[in-house]
Amino acid sequence: MTVLSASDLRKIYEIGKQNVHALDGVSLQVEEGEFVAVMGPSGSGKSTLLHLLGGLDQPSGGDITLAGIKVSLLSDQEATLLRRRNIGFVFQFYNLLPTLSAKENILLPLIIDGKKPRDHEKRLQELLLRVGLSDRADHRPSELSGGEQQRVSLARALITQPKVLLADEPTGNLDSRTGNQVMELLGELSRDLNQTIIMVTHDPKAAAHADRVVFLQDGRIREEISLTGIRSMQ
Ligand code: ADP
Ligand code: ADP
Repeated sequence: MTVLSASDLRKIYEIGKQNVHALDGVSLQVEEGEFVAVMGPSGSGKSTLLHLLGGLDQPSGGDITLAGIKVSLLSDQEATLLRRRNIGFVFQFYNLLPTLSAKENILLPLIIDGKKPRDHEKRLQELLLRVGLSDRADHRPSELSGGEQQRVSLARALITQPKVLLADEPTGNLDSRTGNQVMELLGELSRDLNQTIIMVTHDPKAAAHADRVVFLQDGRIREEISLTGIRSMQ
């Protein structure tokens, strides 16, 4: 089943009199449980694609279909609600609130959604265990390593059980060993929990954890490579 798709997606930035075609007709279908890595040179449109898929920015043309619903047909409010229910976001620089504990940061999306954290204690504990932070739940971000902070941000992205996890350079700020641990975690989420993941990365070692790699160049898909066959031979 297709969870998220983009059809002829375009984004034009107007800078003075110049138009930058950041995305120039990108079509992409992501199936449930699939782990897709988006690679490409700096300026090729990777972040723009992820931002459009996650609704952080508006496309200049084309369509996005999320959970079977064409986003362009919705009001802003309906689109926001659809995304809040279906998308989790992980950023390079974690974006955790410094005054809240790890646990409070993770619960924040539920609170914003008007839910009672108490009703979700079991899911919180399961997630803490999965990301290996059960004994760090009461620590503030400043008391956690970079890898731990990224794992908090991962748990925060997953607490609402989103259909799709979008990750923008999730290992970009981590040393290679810690980055690899985060990538192993993403791989496990994809394999064990059938979590759909779309991740932007510069790092071929990170992309090697994905099922499919999509290469962007000048705002277009230049090439797609399936890694599922390669991985099952290992
Ligand atoms: P990547 O993530 O692959 O480095 P981006 O999606 O950030 O690429 O950028 C694609 C192109 O769009 C680049 O030429 C970039 O300079 C331009 N761009 C991105 N965001 C903006 C913006 N907010 N305003 C103007 N130009 C932008
Ligand atoms: P990263 O590569 O860390 O993901 P982004 O490419 O997303 O960073 O850029 C960070 C922010 O800067 C985004 O909000 C993006 O829209 C903006 N941006 C990127 N390139 C440009 C540009 N050429 N002009 C103006 N804003 C830009």
